[in-house]
Amino acid sequence: MMSEEIDWDGLTFSLTPTDTMYLTETSSTEPWMPGTLRPYGPIEMSPASGVLNYGQGLFEGMKAFRTSKNRVVFFRPEENARRMQRGADRLKMPPVPESIFIDAVEQCVQANLRWVPPTGKGAMYVRPLLMGSGPILGVAPAPSYTFLVYVTPVGPYFKGGVSAIDLLISEEYHRAAPGGSGGVKAIGNYAPGMMPSRKAKDAGFAEVIYLDAETHTYIEEVGAANFFCVKDNVLYTPELTGTILPGITRQSIMELARHHGYEVIETKVSAEFAMAADEAFCCGTAAVISPIGSITKGEKKATYGDQKPGPITEQLYNHLVGIQNETEEDLFGWLHEIPQ
Ligand SMILES: *Cc1c(COP(=O)(O)O)cnc(C)c1O
Repeated sequence: MMSEEIDWDGLTFSLTPTDTMYLTETSSTEPWMPGTLRPYGPIEMSPASGVLNYGQGLFEGMKAFRTSKNRVVFFRPEENARRMQRGADRLKMPPVPESIFIDAVEQCVQANLRWVPPTGKGAMYVRPLLMGSGPILGVAPAPSYTFLVYVTPVGPYFKGGVSAIDLLISEEYHRAAPGGSGGVKAIGNYAPGMMPSRKAKDAGFAEVIYLDAETHTYIEEVGAANFFCVKDNVLYTPELTGTILPGITRQSIMELARHHGYEVIETKVSAEFAMAADEAFCCGTAAVISPIGSITKGEKKATYGDQKPGPITEQLYNHLVGIQNETEEDLFGWLHEIPQ
């Protein structure tokens, strides 16, 4: 497909195959070496690979933006690199050095520049994967590893503007348990959420809210996004206890909110407290910030702001998106330019 033919306004958050991907391999005893670009497409793997048999794999999700200054930038890519390193330690994989990670994601975007959407039409979603690709029969770390990066252009998460979503608290399922892998982007964390999520969608909700697995009291996450609520101009977000994924959007929102003079408290946030809050939203790279319109728990339903984003939610959303497309100053040095 020629770039002239790309329908930028038709993009959604879905996969559009691009031209080029990046791949490098190592054995468990050798250091990582820079990889190479190759045509985007299927890869060969042993049927006995660690990732296929035992889920020894991690992913990352980040975006490159074409800004109003016509630069192409990443948003805090070093944070993705470090998070993947922490995940690699947890899954007993060799961590990819930050320099190789950054070089890989940069090269992959540069090789697919024609797929980076114009300012305001979306972003280039970048998906790094790290996996045990070598064969292993017993449950143990694989003998060799693959680090690959592919990219796909995505449209704005919400077509036709930001709209508030209706959420259901899951009273039956949990996402993560203490001591487990919930705090890293392990691929195995996501399939168990598909059934609860689908059930909630069939019942008319956008996504499920998971409570902690120990006491079934405190909010952990919204599907695969972090949770915030606002009460009396103070922001509250679940503290990182190991079962919550440390979102880069979450961290950035805390920093931005404090910059605006708001108090931000990381603590245990009970469902009861959240349901009495003034505003609520969830956040992640894909949607940035999604305002929450309602939360349902059993027979109880709490609603917020008449289906519109609350004022603080909107202020933080506008500022964060403004920084990403360079209509606002990059106050914190979050942008990382990709030479074109
Ligand atoms: C990726 C992810 C998030 C959001 O993290 P960002 O770095 O903000 O994209 C939140 N929760 C889960 C479970 C995730 O996998």
